Amino acid sequence: MAASSVAGQRSVADALQDVAQRVEAAGSKAGRAKPPRLVAVSKTKPAEAVREAYDAGHRTFGENYVQELLDKAPLLPSDIQWHFIGHLQSNKVKALVEGVPNLSMIETVDSAKLADRIDRCVAGAGRKEPLAVAVQVNTSGEESKYGVEPADVVALATHVAKACPHLRLAGLMTIGMPDYSSRPENFECLAKCRDEVAAALGMSPDDLELSMGMSGDFEAAIAMGSTNVRVGSTIFGARDYSAKK
Ligand SMILES: *Cc1c(COP(=O)(O)O)cnc(C)c1O
Repeated sequence: MAASSVAGQRSVADALQDVAQRVEAAGSKAGRAKPPRLVAVSKTKPAEAVREAYDAGHRTFGENYVQELLDKAPLLPSDIQWHFIGHLQSNKVKALVEGVPNLSMIETVDSAKLADRIDRCVAGAGRKEPLAVAVQVNTSGEESKYGVEPADVVALATHVAKACPHLRLAGLMTIGMPDYSSRPENFECLAKCRDEVAAALGMSPDDLELSMGMSGDFEAAIAMGSTNVRVGSTIFGARDYSAKK
């Protein structure tokens, strides 16, 4: 048994393998040529837990808090692909982009101002490739601080694609409901927004990713088109937020 496993709790490696198999099975059931990407969400978890998943062969991880990622990334191998999936304030973009050279995607772009800021910082950091970003969409129709309204997605995606040369529009992302649960309507809404963006930009819908699905619903999300699921607690165990301010 792996060192980190506790009585009654599976090791990170075992849980990861189980989730990865379920992601792959859901992908082939949905007829995908390429299996969806599994982002292992390690927020609030120590670098050792990430290391255990890394040693089991996993390379893509997601974090929500800039300072936590800045602390964790240097302790871990540089071939990790980090996805930033938390709310991002403009005044933290520079630290994030410069401090995490192996940042692979920012999934939470929700304003042109933020996109412009990331674009400038990517240029300033001298990254060789454009940084992949996703536009975060509020698909719940409920009051939410984060994510653009569906009606505003095409405008923001067009801004990223046309006015941000150091960014690559990777696709769209949603959390779902304000309580972090999701309904089929959230997934349908994101897929519809993706089709509208593709039409507006003359792209194939297949060239735009859908980041949707978390621990409780990633298989349902894949069935409805997700190409990028973000799974935390099912891999790393329940989170303890007591250390967070
Ligand atoms: C925490 C978080 C996740 C993972 O949630 P789980 O339910 O633990 O799988 C996914 N996406 C975002 C944006 C998150 O903040």
